[in-house]
Amino acid sequence: MSAKIVNYQKLYNITENMTPLADDCGKLCGKICCRPDKNNTLGMYLYPGEEEMFTREEDWLRWERRNPGEDDFPASWNNPVYFICCTKPCPRKHRPLNCRLFPLAPHLLKDGTLLLIYETLYLPYTCPLIKRKTPLRQDFIDAVAHCWQELLTDRRISDLVEMDSREREKEGNQPFIVRIILPPLSRRR
Ligand code: SF4
Ligand code: SF4
Repeated sequence: MSAKIVNYQKLYNITENMTPLADDCGKLCGKICCRPDKNNTLGMYLYPGEEEMFTREEDWLRWERRNPGEDDFPASWNNPVYFICCTKPCPRKHRPLNCRLFPLAPHLLKDGTLLLIYETLYLPYTCPLIKRKTPLRQDFIDAVAHCWQELLTDRRISDLVEMDSREREKEGNQPFIVRIILPPLSRRR
C-alpha cells in the first residue's frame, strides 16, 4: 500500500489551542516535560512528513537524522527519521505533534479498535496527569482522537502503533483507557 501523507497543517490547526486541562497543567509539575535534561538529550521523533512543518531555522530546535532500522521502527519506515530536541521553550503554536497529543497515546487492538490511553512508555520524569489519571478536557480528548484517526491512515504510522501495542500487551502493561473508538464496519477484522 502506498504511504499517504497526513495533512499536518490540519492537525496543527485542530490542536493549536488545545490543552489537557482547563488550567495550565505545567503549574502542577513546573513544566517538567519541557525542561531539557542535564545532557540535553530529551527529544521526540517526528511522524513521516511532519518535518515539512518546520523551516529548519528554528533556534529552539536541534535536529538529528536517524536510521529507522537502527531505532526499532517498522520496516515500512524510510530513512531518515527525524529526531528533534528543543533546546529552549518553543513558540507554542509551532510545537511538534507529539507534544500536542501528550499525555495520551494510541493503542490498537487486534480487531482494529483504537483505544486512547495514558502514555505507558518509560519517561525520565513523572507527569502528574498520568500518575493520577487526571480526567482531561473532553475537547482535548476529541482533538487527540481526531488526530490519531488521521495519523493511522498512514500505513507507516499504523505499523508503528500496532508494533507498540503488541509490545505493550506482551509486557502485560494494562493501559488506562480514556476513549474507545470502534473501527468503521468496513475495516473491522
Ligand atoms: S508533565 Fe504532564 S502535567 Fe506536566 S506539563 Fe507535561 S503534560 Fe502537563
Ligand atoms: S517542543 Fe515545546 S512543548 Fe514540546 S517539549 Fe519542547 S518546549 Fe515543550
